[in-house]
Amino acid sequence: MPKKQLLFVFAHPDDEAFTSGVTIAKYTNAGAQVALVCATRGQAGSAGNPPLCTRAELPAVREQELREAANILGIQSLEILDYADQHVSDVAQDELVAKIQQAIHTYQPQVVLTFAPHGISGHPDHRAICQATTQAVRRGSKASPVHKLYYCTIPSRSPLTAGRTLYTDPEEAITTEISAPEYVPVAARALLAHRTQHQSVERVFPGIAHGDYRHVRPVNHYILAWHNLPAYEIKGKEQDLFAGIFA
Ligand SMILES: [Zn+2]
Repeated sequence: MPKKQLLFVFAHPDDEAFTSGVTIAKYTNAGAQVALVCATRGQAGSAGNPPLCTRAELPAVREQELREAANILGIQSLEILDYADQHVSDVAQDELVAKIQQAIHTYQPQVVLTFAPHGISGHPDHRAICQATTQAVRRGSKASPVHKLYYCTIPSRSPLTAGRTLYTDPEEAITTEISAPEYVPVAARALLAHRTQHQSVERVFPGIAHGDYRHVRPVNHYILAWHNLPAYEIKGKEQDLFAGIFA
């Protein structure tokens, strides 16, 4: 039986920890291989308040933070595409699609995950990486290992974070819930590894910097956007990203 492989495709360092912390920790701890492709070094983001580094140092610092978060979550392979932060939508889509297809070829994932089309925060980079990843999966040849594509989202019923409008999906649109409360402390450590992003991390997860993890989500939510499994039907909510592939 081939090894279980997941590929996450995101835009910025910290997207993985914000959207999928407990999910990644759960699967890597269960022996799955997890690869992460990140389109930028997050160089347009905050350097912290007070700043933890100069603007010039920020790309390298954020890359290091991402490597640390990836290690904490057990991610085995990390690839940074090094596009300009906030300009992922300016990249020719065919070029971005080709890079993601290359990653699919390299890591041989059965399951690919990316942002929902709305990008949760609505960031144009999030939306662009969703579009390109969707195309990369849909245009896959018969030799493609991919059986499922998921969109990361947040249920509409979850409380909106202070002062921010987030794009969410209604309960009935959410196909998949990965629950792993035992990995909340690991997910919290991954979030805190993004030290330059402490303001947004503390805004979204109040108390986290002081060891209060009650706002760190014990469940991550996904929408099965595409699959190629004949006769596969979801009954209730899926609890496993590999359902229908290995079971
Ligand atoms: Zn982002």
